[in-house]
Amino acid sequence: MRTVPKFVIGNWKMQARHSYGLQLACDIARGIKEVPPPSFMHTVICPPFTQLAGVHDVLEKEGLNSDVFAMGAQDCYPAASGPFTGDISPQMLTALGARYVILGHSERRQNHGETNAVIRQKVKAATAAGITPIVCIGEHLAERNEGRAASILASQIEGSLTRGFRGIVAYEPVWAIGSGITPSHEELQRKLTLIRSLLPMRLMTDDIRVPVLYGGSVTSVQTPSIMSIKELDGVLVGSASLEAQSFLDIIRAATEATLPQSSS
Ligand code: PEP
Repeated sequence: MRTVPKFVIGNWKMQARHSYGLQLACDIARGIKEVPPPSFMHTVICPPFTQLAGVHDVLEKEGLNSDVFAMGAQDCYPAASGPFTGDISPQMLTALGARYVILGHSERRQNHGETNAVIRQKVKAATAAGITPIVCIGEHLAERNEGRAASILASQIEGSLTRGFRGIVAYEPVWAIGSGITPSHEELQRKLTLIRSLLPMRLMTDDIRVPVLYGGSVTSVQTPSIMSIKELDGVLVGSASLEAQSFLDIIRAATEATLPQSSS
């Protein structure tokens, strides 16, 4: 019997002040130690660059830097080193203990003009540095309303993922991020089926199950319904990851929703 890992990933964005971030990491780590989730449940927290070293120290001190509780970053530059003022390489992230990196978040696509091609370069660089990319894809509201979501998702998968991609994909409809709105169960199920059908063209195999997560206004209330979709392997959480108890509640809800189907 093989256990399929499930993920709850927190994206802190540029939101937590330094001391708050370190305390948040500590509170989440202690909550996890108090009620340890089963080993199939992997938790990742992604602080801003400036907090990575401090959060890594917290995780080490709590004895929790492992597959089941790890740290990620929110972006990286697509090269190992060079004259790139203000940028951070994936190697610099691994040196600080980051195991994951979020790439192609819609806020970076929008605010920094990141194209699929740039994101693919970042995926390549992160993979070469031994860091797991979490690649975000998702359509805007107008694209959804015009019936173009499927073609947008196909072009993001084709353009952002490397051939033979081995990482995590996060489906984050842009209209659901920070809006308090989540897609209906039926819509999410449809999108997940579509994404699963599109992935083999980049994975170059049918054999590997790349984890696909959902992100956009997730709280512990919708987590059971979201996690009941069998094509889904977890959630990427923004706002609700900035408060220890709400993040721990999501981990618990995701664990409970997954328990009966965790072995396959
Ligand atoms: C995100 O931006 O990755 C996200 C999921 O945000 P929120 O949960 O706040 O919608």
